[in-house]
Amino acid sequence: MLLAAVALAAKPLPAVADEFDRAASELLDKYAKELDQLAAWCDSQGLADQAGSTRAWLSPRNPDKLYVAVFPREVGRSEPVAGTPPGLVEWDKRFHQLRREQANSLEALARRAVRNGRASLAFDLVLAALRENPDHEAIRGLLGYQKHQNEWRTVWEISKLRSGQVHHETFGWIPKAHVRRYEQGQRYSNGRWITAEEDAQLHRDIRSGWDVETEHYTVRTNHSLEAGVQLGAKLERLYRVWKQLFVRYFAAEDQVTALFDGRARSNWARLPRHQVVYFRTRDDYNQALRAAFPNIEMSIGVYVDSTRRAYFFAGESYDDRTLYHEATHQLFHESRPVAPDVGLRANFWIVEGIALYMESLHEEHGFHVLGGFDDLRMLAARYRLLHDDFYVPLADLTAMGREALQSHPQIATVYSQAAGLTHFLICHDGGRYRDALVAYLGAVYSGRDKPGALAELVAASYADLDRQYREFIQSAGMPTLAEEK
Ligand SMILES: [Zn+2]
Repeated sequence: MLLAAVALAAKPLPAVADEFDRAASELLDKYAKELDQLAAWCDSQGLADQAGSTRAWLSPRNPDKLYVAVFPREVGRSEPVAGTPPGLVEWDKRFHQLRREQANSLEALARRAVRNGRASLAFDLVLAALRENPDHEAIRGLLGYQKHQNEWRTVWEISKLRSGQVHHETFGWIPKAHVRRYEQGQRYSNGRWITAEEDAQLHRDIRSGWDVETEHYTVRTNHSLEAGVQLGAKLERLYRVWKQLFVRYFAAEDQVTALFDGRARSNWARLPRHQVVYFRTRDDYNQALRAAFPNIEMSIGVYVDSTRRAYFFAGESYDDRTLYHEATHQLFHESRPVAPDVGLRANFWIVEGIALYMESLHEEHGFHVLGGFDDLRMLAARYRLLHDDFYVPLADLTAMGREALQSHPQIATVYSQAAGLTHFLICHDGGRYRDALVAYLGAVYSGRDKPGALAELVAASYADLDRQYREFIQSAGMPTLAEEK
């Protein structure tokens, strides 16, 4: 790995929105006006549907959520078919022209932002640009995509495709020549074809389970090939969002800058393949892990740093939130060199806070979405602060190491607060603390953190942050009892 030289961002961030934040919001305002004009033109032409979709394109998003667009795989957009009325053709042309221009403006601003230490903002901007123009070659390249047979694919996918494999929704990556027989219930094992039942028998024990490979994970499971593929798809979704958000965690600033300059990707951080074990039953899970964890039956998933594996099991108590939580611990642990005892002396709250935050991953209208005041962890944070008046000031919270936090008499309530604070650091005031948060995570995981690290990085006192957090939570109000968890 080329990550040893990761430098912690020592530069405190500006206490107020800087020129890049301002430029970004000006770009958005200008674009909103242009879309509005186009919608008004549609109205004047009697194109009600097009007016509606033009207006909806920038429909208001919650500032308390993070949105990562899901990008199309196909290269090129669908053009109006022959015989489309001229008004529609004209709208289509204008709309796409505006989008392409906006994509270019966003990309240009991203390049300036990244050169000024605003990697998180820069990534937000290029992702927004790619939504406007999914075929923007420079941005696709920057995010690791290449054109392959009229599709945008990663280098890993292209090597799979070139070796004669295809990605099957149900069976994952298999040789193209096998697809039909798999769909008929046959399985290929040790050089011969067998039935799905025989295959299941062969993989019944986790030690001889299926190994399902996705781009960044190997999922070992004794449940079924299909369940391994499904779990792998969820892990890849988390991975993608995590990687965009935390690029500065696993890559140094000069690596990110080089990426934007289109310089060699060979210099780019090589990340390891992550190992996940997915048991068929809770019993299998308990049995495999009990020796190391006497209380294993109290958990529904766990990341074990000594084995570098995350463990889950199928069945009724399976929960995506637990998957995302433990897999987040894994990503932070394995994506750069980390200290042997992360958070042992101080700052342990953020290790849990960030995993609790990532639990909220879900999809809304073509976006991967994180956070939101209505996420169940946030509902709890709001309720505990506003109703119970429970709050551990940051000066005390950051001074707590792992033991202190885990033996706190109100540990669940402290966890709710950790989730709320993380949420606050990610999206408060348009996300101006987000780069500092990422640097803070870097400091904690590398074991170079002091209790005052967060205050230094955000250039605000803990008392100020306590006050801002309270205002942030108050802005959402007291959750109703029906919302309460
Ligand atoms: Zn955890």
